[in-house]
Amino acid sequence: MVVNTRNGNKRGNLLEATQRAIFGWARKSSLWPMTFGLACCAIEMMSASAANYDVMERSGMLFRPSPRQSDLMIVAGSVTLKMAPVLRRLYDQMPDPKWVISMGSCASAGGPYPTYSHLQGVDKVVPVDVYVPGCPPVPEALFYGILQLQGMIQRGDRQVKEAPIDPEPK
Ligand code: SF4
Repeated sequence: MVVNTRNGNKRGNLLEATQRAIFGWARKSSLWPMTFGLACCAIEMMSASAANYDVMERSGMLFRPSPRQSDLMIVAGSVTLKMAPVLRRLYDQMPDPKWVISMGSCASAGGPYPTYSHLQGVDKVVPVDVYVPGCPPVPEALFYGILQLQGMIQRGDRQVKEAPIDPEPK
């Protein structure tokens, strides 16, 4: 735990650091992803929370049906240009602090659809914290990405972000 000794305010800094650590632990241990799948990657996401893997619930993650109850968006699948503004609206409806995982090559970079109709990377409309590669990524890969995100949350990296970005990309 880092304590700033220069200004002599050790107690205040210690309390602040302890509070940050507790908040970070609570947030990373109770991520609530939005129920939201776009294409075939979503099948692997669902499988990650089903009985064979069962990694989500054991990590305190409960899928929520509303963006207003969610603090994690897992973009699982290809994003069309028509869907992009909707996705951005859902992101805007999530309360801060919130995080985004881009799952699969379609969500991260357009995948096998370099076409006029597909967004070439979801980070053009929402700020992405973790990219999980693969087509599709297996549940273990998604869980590895979740572990990376939990580490970021515990360290307090990027809790409040500017949403970039063009809500209606061309
Ligand atoms: Fe489907 Fe592959 Fe695209 Fe995932 S990355 S949505 S598996 S085509």
